[in-house]
Amino acid sequence: MTRLARRLAQIQPSASIAITRRAAEMRREGIDVIALSQGEPDFDTPDHIARAGKRAIDEGQTRYTDVDGTPELKRAIVARFEQAHGLHYASDQISVGTGGKQVIFNAMLALIDPADEVIIPAPYWVSYPDMVRLAGGEPVCLPCPESQGFRLTPEQLEAAITERTRLLVLNSPGNPSGAGYSRDELIALGEVLKRHEQVFVLCDDIYAPITFDDWQFHSLAAVVPELVERTLTVNGVSKGYAMTGWRIGYGGGPRDLIRAMATLQGQITTNPSAISQAAAVEALSGPHDFLEERNAVFRQRRDLCAKAINAIDGLSCRLPEGAFYLFIGCDGVIGRRTPQGETLESDADVAGYLLEAAHVAVVPGSAFGLSPFFRISFAADTELLGEACERITLALSKLE
Ligand code: PLP
Repeated sequence: MTRLARRLAQIQPSASIAITRRAAEMRREGIDVIALSQGEPDFDTPDHIARAGKRAIDEGQTRYTDVDGTPELKRAIVARFEQAHGLHYASDQISVGTGGKQVIFNAMLALIDPADEVIIPAPYWVSYPDMVRLAGGEPVCLPCPESQGFRLTPEQLEAAITERTRLLVLNSPGNPSGAGYSRDELIALGEVLKRHEQVFVLCDDIYAPITFDDWQFHSLAAVVPELVERTLTVNGVSKGYAMTGWRIGYGGGPRDLIRAMATLQGQITTNPSAISQAAAVEALSGPHDFLEERNAVFRQRRDLCAKAINAIDGLSCRLPEGAFYLFIGCDGVIGRRTPQGETLESDADVAGYLLEAAHVAVVPGSAFGLSPFFRISFAADTELLGEACERITLALSKLE
């Protein structure tokens, strides 16, 4: 057996990837599984963006680029940060990586020393705590229950900060909850952060383009400019532009951190794909009208699923402000028995039951650090979502 490094013992495979893989396996066995477990839009990359990628190949843009992004892409990012989010960065304050994921990991490696604490509001994106552990730090996960809209309060933040706190991770709209912070809520968190100069903030805005109703997205460093030297604002093209496979993410932040991230990336992956960078220039600088149309479809699906879920005895969910997930409370079904006589003791049991009995793949709240919940993605075909809700309703009606 291969002797693996000890650091592997600290981390888990991503739960959502594992469940999506299990659903794909079941499909190969001929079972008609509806996978609501993955975190990606079902829409295609808009044509004008895909064409820019093809053009890049035809024009021979197929070589190494600057490690942390081409000058063209950095200019497009600067302009987009400015126009869309009121964030003022220069090109040398931008780092481009292979997805937001690499940018976040680079930042954690660049910022965290052993035993540093990183505050992560729960529910959280599955990768944050494991990335902190890989960087040698200690995740400090703060439960943010549904009663506070799955959002971190200033009081919680103040109480959690210690001398060892190095970093706060903020994600709005959030995965898995879709919860978005208002401008006033960010200002209130900013007041706390201003008092603790040792704390840096990683602001993960990757879902910013996907918002609903009257909720307005705001980025922390734009509304609390005093924090701009202590914030890395992360974004990317995966979610908003339906470009998950192109693997382009980026961050804006202080120059010394950006340089450190480039040094790390230069030893890990070098530049992200040249072709994808060219397509990302078009994504950020080209027309954005498709966003409104797609958000309207997402909103219709959100409402359809929330209505169906809230009609099920034992389940409930709030309407998210953004992203494409419902984080569904399943307290009311815990303790019930399946037709096979097994008691559902946890949200992982509920997710397992839904996969086996309803053939619907969902991710349990335990993977995101808050139970008992499960997450569904409504970035799936509308008809399929309707069918998934019917299957969930039927399977849960069989519980005793
Ligand atoms: N941040 C959050 C909250 C996410 O949900 C994801 C993807 O699932 C990412 C960052 C990373 O996205 P990517 O690496 O595709 O840009």
